[in-house]
Amino acid sequence: MRFAAMVLEKFNKPLELKQFEINDLPQGYVLVRTLASGVCGSDVHIAKGEDPRTPVPIILGHEGVGEVIKIFGEKKDLNGEPIEPGDWIIWNRGVVCRKCFWCTVAKQPHLCPNRKVYGINMSCKDHPHLFGCYAEAVTLLPEVEILKIPKNIDPAILVIAACSGATAMHTLDSIQESLTDKTIVVQGVGPLGIFCAVAAKTMGASRVVVIGGSPERLSLAKDFVDVALSRRELSEEERRKKVLQLTHGRGADIVIEAAGDSNALLEGLNLIRRGGIYLIAGVAVPQKPIPLSVYEHLVVKGITLHGVWVSDTEHLVQAVHIVTSHPKVFENLITHRFKLDRANEALKCVEERKALKATICFD
Ligand SMILES: [Zn+2]
Ligand SMILES: [Zn+2]
Repeated sequence: MRFAAMVLEKFNKPLELKQFEINDLPQGYVLVRTLASGVCGSDVHIAKGEDPRTPVPIILGHEGVGEVIKIFGEKKDLNGEPIEPGDWIIWNRGVVCRKCFWCTVAKQPHLCPNRKVYGINMSCKDHPHLFGCYAEAVTLLPEVEILKIPKNIDPAILVIAACSGATAMHTLDSIQESLTDKTIVVQGVGPLGIFCAVAAKTMGASRVVVIGGSPERLSLAKDFVDVALSRRELSEEERRKKVLQLTHGRGADIVIEAAGDSNALLEGLNLIRRGGIYLIAGVAVPQKPIPLSVYEHLVVKGITLHGVWVSDTEHLVQAVHIVTSHPKVFENLITHRFKLDRANEALKCVEERKALKATICFD
């Protein structure tokens, strides 16, 4: 069987359409026909060589939903259901070693130094090549964790669960206390920020405030958050006053950085109350250091600063649940759909922030 894929041969060059021949695969592999592939903000950085993990050549795309073509041997999903040809599935984009200190002792497998990620650090030079979702098919290693999904949902919507959704659930999972009675500020209204906001409301947060720039994204967020603050219409000081007004002058209990910009911390640290929790979830590639006053920003206020790196298996399962129970919210998020051979346009569209969420769709 031949499958087309868009390959990044060199950083900062357009992806090229290539064909791959896949016949027999080793025992345990699952061959999946791609139904939808998410175009992530990090793909733009990866294509420019800004992610230190990424080799070339590579097929981009770490957010996939697909239909099983063939299982080489037998395989069950995370619920113990046998996987069969024709099943619709989503999978954990990361594959960890289950042997290292982080996988076994610390029980933090997302920090596994041997973690392989589809579309991020698995080159298509290696057999059987289809290790990214900007392709008509994906070859899933025997270790890949798979979850069957219902067929009554648009697969383009579910790609959000694969990366930003799972990371959002990891972010909220890192808060070891009840969200009831809490005010949460989410900085950024991209897919990650919107997912954090929807999930926080679902998990009982009493008030969710989002801060963003794009009027389209903010108006979408207004449907399910309590307060949406525009960076274009309000100054930083005005935004701070709004948050203080909402919290009896204390500041937010929890702030989530989902803007993908380290500079967001300089505002966020002024929005958080004494003893609050700050989760940094959006920064996914190396960035310039920021001027931070450790005494004033962190110590005196007794703030817990928590970096959130990628996600674990349970977060994917939770994210799929959130998407399937709020399909309408996430349907509105998919603003652009591209065919595979237009993946370069899709990347440009995401880079120029025209899309809320862009996907690559297949016939
Ligand atoms: Zn992503
Ligand atoms: Zn490991």
